[in-house]
Amino acid sequence: MFKKVLIANRGEIAVRIIRACRELGIQTVAVYSTADKNALHTMIADEAVCIGPAPSKDSYLNMRAIISACEITGADAIHPGFGFLSENASFARTCEKCGITFIGPRATSIEMLGDKAQAKETMKENGVPVIMGSDGAISNIHAAKSLAAQLGYPVLIKASAGGGGRGIRIVNEESELEKQMTAARQEALACFGNDEVYMEKFIVDPKHIEIQILADNYGDVIYLGERDCSMQRRNQKVLEEAPSPASFMTPRLREKMGKAACTAARVCGYRNAGTIEFLVDKNGDFYFMEMNTRIQVEHPITEQVTGIDLVKQQLLIAQGEHLSIKQEDVKITGHAIECRINAENPEQGFRPSPGTIRSLFIPGGFGVRVDTAVYQGYEIPPYYDSMIGKLIVHGKDRQEAIAKMTWALSEFIVEGVNTNVDFQLKLIRRPEFIEGNYDNAFLNRVDILKQREE
Ligand code: ADP
Ligand code: ADP
Ligand code: MG
Repeated sequence: MFKKVLIANRGEIAVRIIRACRELGIQTVAVYSTADKNALHTMIADEAVCIGPAPSKDSYLNMRAIISACEITGADAIHPGFGFLSENASFARTCEKCGITFIGPRATSIEMLGDKAQAKETMKENGVPVIMGSDGAISNIHAAKSLAAQLGYPVLIKASAGGGGRGIRIVNEESELEKQMTAARQEALACFGNDEVYMEKFIVDPKHIEIQILADNYGDVIYLGERDCSMQRRNQKVLEEAPSPASFMTPRLREKMGKAACTAARVCGYRNAGTIEFLVDKNGDFYFMEMNTRIQVEHPITEQVTGIDLVKQQLLIAQGEHLSIKQEDVKITGHAIECRINAENPEQGFRPSPGTIRSLFIPGGFGVRVDTAVYQGYEIPPYYDSMIGKLIVHGKDRQEAIAKMTWALSEFIVEGVNTNVDFQLKLIRRPEFIEGNYDNAFLNRVDILKQREE
């Protein structure tokens, strides 16, 4: 049993993890940058260690400082949350070497799946359907041209080390190929320190459906249904729901995708919580896109419909326990929706809006959950992600969940900074959303702020 867990993250996910530890009777250590001295995670953990100045590279990405904090406080495990070092194989390996349990998969699995081009190859070899494209990375423009001609335009150029929707470029015709490939490479280098790219056929108007899995150290893998993350802006998720609307998802498709997800996890020797992201086309054919080897932002909607606390499961699995849940025990009850609440200005191209929260009202009530780390008087620093919280609702069915989300968003008040609360409210009132009739391209087609088709 862990005595003490260090949380190598900040914001709402750090708070989420501290709470799970507390329920299990585990002591917690927060790490914080100088900009986060007054952050909630810093204040509510049992202990807190400053690991450096505001920029992530000097603090939340500073492996040496984090490992030292572990040693100083005697923590026996590290939970990396999402983003930052959560998908960094060398960090996981360093933890292993220092005798600290990394709460996540083995370093080798992170490595295997973190190279997205390579991961696709592995899946293909093991019978998991993948999107047509390059076999591994593409290195030169000639190879790219002939492959694109073969696949047919449009194609996507994607960063092998990508994440968070970055390093992805669409190419509509051959004349754009070289420029877009260069752009993708540059963005990939800047964001991930690796300019390797691969090519995929662009799937027109698909849905992003991902499967949550849990795997223990002994080869048992289960799936916990899907999350529909098709509501995206610039390849980034805006709102998620579980299950996917019934007009689209059938029990049969769910089972097929669930089994494929478990296969994907097994062939990588995967352990802990993970998510397999698929694209599903108009014919209901699904294709492996990538596996995220960590807890995800949108994990609460799965928790709400399954009643399973995913972060507690992560801790128990990392402690070496057998999965206590069998596949046949997993039942999806009702419907959950999550809206990401960001400090940003939708009227100004969603520009981040850091600053001090002067006034705050967070809705509550039956079936409403808010995962956040902000409070009245809190100053949102400009250095990190603009997501300041997640509003999650759970209703007996989709209609009830939408109704709850509507009043919860209407009650939500944040003053002092701009947020996307009104944008989210307009979005969930759209008839297309209410009908469950939307795909990944919906937010490209529709201007939510103007409430009309473009
Ligand atoms: P999710 O499916 O959990 O929403 P995202 O891809 O949106 O996954 O990423 C979750 C968080 O991690 C976001 O804050 C995002 O900015 C960050 N993130 C994702 N990939 C990377 C990466 N390779 N490097 C740094 N941050 C990342
Ligand atoms: P990241 O690692 O940044 O999360 P993903 O590979 O998961 O990147 O892709 C992010 C999003 O980009 C997907 O959810 C989807 O909307 C879009 N996308 C990715 N690949 C394709 C494709 N081949 N065709 C159409 N859309 C795609
Ligand atoms: Mg993804």
